[in-house]
Amino acid sequence: MRVSVFGLGYVGCVSAACLADMGHEVVGVDVNQVKVDLVNDGRAPVVEERIGELVAEVVGSGALRATDDVREAVMNSEVSLVCVGTPSEPNGSLCTTYLERVTEQIGAALAERGGRGGRGGRHTVVFRSTMLPGTCLDLLVPILEKSFGGTAGVDVGVAVNPEFLREGTSVRDFSDPPKTVIGELDPASGDVVAALYDGLPGEVFRVPVPTAEAIKYADNAFHGLKIGFANELGAVCQALGVDSHQVMDVFLADRKLNISPAYLRPGFAFGGSCLPKDLRSLVYAAQRADVSVPILAHVLPSNEEHLQRAIELVERTGRRKVGLFGLSFKPGTDDLRESPLVELAERLFGKGYDLRIHDANVSLSRLLGANREYIETRLPHLAQLLADSVDEVLEHAEVVLVGTKDPAVLSALPHGAGGPVIVDLVRLPDAEARRAEPGYVGLAW
Ligand code: NAD
Repeated sequence: MRVSVFGLGYVGCVSAACLADMGHEVVGVDVNQVKVDLVNDGRAPVVEERIGELVAEVVGSGALRATDDVREAVMNSEVSLVCVGTPSEPNGSLCTTYLERVTEQIGAALAERGGRGGRGGRHTVVFRSTMLPGTCLDLLVPILEKSFGGTAGVDVGVAVNPEFLREGTSVRDFSDPPKTVIGELDPASGDVVAALYDGLPGEVFRVPVPTAEAIKYADNAFHGLKIGFANELGAVCQALGVDSHQVMDVFLADRKLNISPAYLRPGFAFGGSCLPKDLRSLVYAAQRADVSVPILAHVLPSNEEHLQRAIELVERTGRRKVGLFGLSFKPGTDDLRESPLVELAERLFGKGYDLRIHDANVSLSRLLGANREYIETRLPHLAQLLADSVDEVLEHAEVVLVGTKDPAVLSALPHGAGGPVIVDLVRLPDAEARRAEPGYVGLAW
């Protein structure tokens, strides 16, 4: 393929050289003449492992060249890969100035050719820069359409393809990516991106454009959280005389729970007898040792915010008769200790909602006597609200909060208008279909 790469910084230079190395015919475009001249001299404008040799090689073979002429580059390519910077504004917001400018330039160049790229086919603009969800469809596509005079997804292809390289190992990361994410405006745009990277390892995910934009933020936020987590834990360990690297060696060896998709599915607040208690005591120990741990200290407040969101969903319905399915701290157990659903029930009860609760495991355990004492001594105010059947709750409720995936509950939940409002706390298996129905609101979207 013939490819224009806009921006010859860390991402653009590496992408341009690696794509050329894969056999594509690449032209790099930058407003910075020094970078353009360096590339044309066979030298990399960024310092990176292996990038110097690679640029020399692909420029030498004619597979890569550079220019500051947008029009000429677009005219001679089927794909424009946008890799310009998206720095922070002084107030922390995302600067989209370079993206806007380059999109307008590409659109104007395409207008001259009626949207035709190199070899007369439809041109595809692929945004590789990191940008907040909505930036492409709400900001850049209108700019492209206005400057080009055609319709994105019809006359010109548009896709978002975030980059996951790490500076320092970016050439290696390019040829061995953790994944390839393609946010496609239309399937043909996605096909172009897929063809561009054909032959690279790693799973390819084809998703809507805003999803692709958001995935990059999920990755980076999680990296930040992980780093902050490891650093805070290291600081506490140090203060308590424990070797944090030995701790992390064992922690990271656990691929079943620690390093896995576990705990990473948006849903309801966490609880139980371990996580909240352990977080509290860790933060307490840190504070006693005079170690500041703002991330760890805010994990529980963050969890509390999430619980509050569920209450707000109920309040917004304006209805007073509430049914709650699920009471234990998570499905598959009768354990009520520090259950976020107990907390939710107590707050709603305290606010005067007329509540009925069903949890089959809790009912069974109560019948067997296992948790009877706990309920009678700790939760006497909720005991009177417990219903042993699903139907009893459904007959009572104007709003149904679903905090379980118990099959007996799922099969009984009504659909459509006229019934109770369903507040989904767990992302029900049929959430996708229910989403279009009136009277359904989800917490885990
Ligand atoms: P950079 O600042 O190193 O490079 C951006 C380049 O774009 C500069 O050379 C600049 O001169 C050029 N440019 C600006 N306007 C232009 C225009 N109109 N036409 C042509 N060129 C233009 O930025 P970077 O580190 O390569 O990051 C680029 C994007 O990729 C950002 O959105 C960043 O968040 C994202 N990203 C970066 C990394 C990383 O490790 N650096 C990793 C993944 C994603």
